[in-house]
Amino acid sequence: MNESCLFCKIVAGKIPAKKIYEDDHVLAFHDIHPQAPVHALVIPKKHWASLDDVGAGDRADLGHLLERTAHCARELGVAASGYRTIINTKAHGGQEVFHIHVHILGGKALGRMVDARAKEG
Ligand code: AMP
Ligand code: ZN
Repeated sequence: MNESCLFCKIVAGKIPAKKIYEDDHVLAFHDIHPQAPVHALVIPKKHWASLDDVGAGDRADLGHLLERTAHCARELGVAASGYRTIINTKAHGGQEVFHIHVHILGGKALGRMVDARAKEG
């Protein structure tokens, strides 16, 4: 646990969250400021600050995180209609909480974000 990390505090139960799924390695909860009708975050219990901190030795944990993300999307009822997953990484990626997390966004048709963001740049 990283004592100054918001999501480590959620994992430790020191800050409340609306939990969706939990196992020994992963926790999923609803985003506090939803950007879509369904907006969940899936995080590893282990603290990685960002995707840039993941190494070859983390492949199994990372695979589990992604597979459980798909599981949560099914549990949230967005798998059939489809959804977007996002991992923001560091400053230019728009990352605000430095404990790696996968966003699940769904519940409505989302715009073609990659095209739109590319034009902004
Ligand atoms: P990112 O910009 O990828 O780092 O996204 C961080 C996300 O964490 C944002 O969508 C926030 O709304 C969300 N967030 C921040 N604090 C909390 C919290 N206490 N519980 C749930 N979600 C949170
Ligand atoms: Zn953390």
